Amino acid sequence: MILMPQHFFLNNHLAVEAVLGPKRLAEVLRPAGYRSAYDWCEKEAAYHRLRGLDVFHHYMRRLTQRGWGQFKPEDIDLDAGRALIRVDNSAFVDDARRGSGRRLCYMFAAWFEGSLEYAAAAVGKKLSLRADETCCAADGTHEYCLFQVSASRSERPRRARGPAKGKGGELNA
Ligand SMILES: [Zn+2]
Repeated sequence: MILMPQHFFLNNHLAVEAVLGPKRLAEVLRPAGYRSAYDWCEKEAAYHRLRGLDVFHHYMRRLTQRGWGQFKPEDIDLDAGRALIRVDNSAFVDDARRGSGRRLCYMFAAWFEGSLEYAAAAVGKKLSLRADETCCAADGTHEYCLFQVSASRSERPRRARGPAKGKGGELNA
């Protein structure tokens, strides 16, 4: 576990974004975010004996406690592969970027995909999900960020298996 100031994290993130562009950076980050979320949930589910959506709610609480924003799952339908997740005070939206007219929090999308796909897999359901930020506190018209999760038509490439980093209870994210 490491702690860092918001400006330090954002300066690094935005420096990479300035080179790659937001679309390409989102593509680069997606597999890593998905994998981290999926593995975190798998380990935490075993450690705390959580099942299905309980581990997803646990993940949302941890992200909130760790300062990424206040994550509030709304309207989750795991059977249909749908969810809405509201994020208040996203770590990506500081005063300098509030009202900048952009959606900034794309890094979170894969975290929702990985954690919800794990929650489904844990109860024997195979889902392929796609999450997108549909409004952002930085877009100039909203006070919060909202992510919409839906069933994806394209099959996710097989996840490379390997030893996850860290121990249960103290993984990343
Ligand atoms: Zn946002």
